[in-house]
Amino acid sequence: MTDALVIGAGPAGLMAAEALAAAGRRVLVAEAKPSPARKLLMAGKSGLNITHDDPAARFAAHYSAGWLAPILAGFGPAGVMDWCRGLGQEVFTGSSGRVFPEAMKASPLLRAWLRRLEAGGAVLRTRWRWTGWQDGALAFDTPQGPHLERPAVTVLALGGASWPRLGSDAAWVPWLQARGVPVAPFRPANMGFGVDWSDRMAPLFGRPVKDVALLAGERRERGEFVLSARGIEGGGVYAVSALVRDGAPLALDLAPARSLAEVAGRLARPRGKDSTANWLRKALRLDPVKIALLHEWGRPLPADPARLARLVKALPVRHTGPRPIAEAISSAGGIPREALTDGLELTALPGVFACGEMLDWEAPTGGYLLTACLATGLHAGRAAAARG
Ligand SMILES: Cc1cc2nc3c(=O)[nH]c(=O)nc-3n(C[C@H](O)[C@H](O)[C@H](O)COP(=O)(O)OP(=O)(O)OC[C@H]3O[C@@H](n4cnc5c(N)ncnc54)[C@H](O)[C@@H]3O)c2cc1C
Repeated sequence: MTDALVIGAGPAGLMAAEALAAAGRRVLVAEAKPSPARKLLMAGKSGLNITHDDPAARFAAHYSAGWLAPILAGFGPAGVMDWCRGLGQEVFTGSSGRVFPEAMKASPLLRAWLRRLEAGGAVLRTRWRWTGWQDGALAFDTPQGPHLERPAVTVLALGGASWPRLGSDAAWVPWLQARGVPVAPFRPANMGFGVDWSDRMAPLFGRPVKDVALLAGERRERGEFVLSARGIEGGGVYAVSALVRDGAPLALDLAPARSLAEVAGRLARPRGKDSTANWLRKALRLDPVKIALLHEWGRPLPADPARLARLVKALPVRHTGPRPIAEAISSAGGIPREALTDGLELTALPGVFACGEMLDWEAPTGGYLLTACLATGLHAGRAAAARG
């Protein structure tokens, strides 16, 4: 009989498996996909930002859920960095505080991790898709046909609802709801926004918009983002995406280093024979992408320097709303804290624990997502190990 079952071989599930195995439990990890941790590998494609080198108090403040603080205090940035080193992956901290493995990719870290898990006795079964409960047992579709498991403890680590093709398809939501577990609806997090561009913007798709401030309600975030055929995406947009998703208007400050008065003063100087684009470039050093955005969202541009300056400092972004959750970096929603014990056990389902992005919290990109997945995986795995 299986002793400890972990379902989902993403970072949260593998961490739970490691904690269970370290406590001497016999662990089976069941993964629906043909290989484990596909989202972690995808995250590593553009540089695996594994954590953020913040002091503990500031670190926890980046999460929507205050209840994560004690769990992150148990395994935060320092814990993640030590853990990486323990797997032979030295890390470095970039200028923004973002922490990366020196190899940048996730694959060396994952390979070392899987080797260590195997050496610790954990068994990984791929192409094992959990399909819910049947006669009180956990039911799986496996390459050998239908299979039932009745483990002593179970840790669910099924991920959120973004990028479903990598495995986290949220198919589990109705199965848990049917057993009395509340699940907050999933919504996109760290996502781009759609824009119905005019034809003249097409040549600029793929171009970055650098050195702007994104204004979302009271929030002002310096950053950059990218224009695409679908709209706007990238770090600067993700940083304000939760506020904008929840209703805050989005605007751009195209000259963030200059005050409104300075911009107005520069625009009040005689224009001479310059075209509008040349005049804006010379007066404010706006690059062609910013000038195109000013025309796109500020058309017709006011002749009055004071009004034009206000537009440059707060250009309303005419977007059509968040891009779909399938394209989002992460998701908000999932199992709320009220449905869990301090050890992340489901109160409605004794002996079943949950961790990772399937829990209801959200955080910006920058290493915060993976850190919370690893921390909750460790926490749930330890609590499950302590259960008989
Ligand atoms: C493009 C991209 C880049 C990212 N970059 C970063 C980054 O740099 N830094 C960062 O902190 N975060 C990043 N993230 C987010 C991070 O990868 C996720 O938050 C994290 O992988 C979630 O971990 P998890 O273990 O909770 O879920 P997942 O990684 O989604 O793993 C869940 C696992 O459960 C399996 N599963 C689901 N349903 C079943 C079932 N019914 N039966 C069996 N198995 C099942 C899935 O196949 C999957 O393997 C990125 C995300 C994306 C999409």
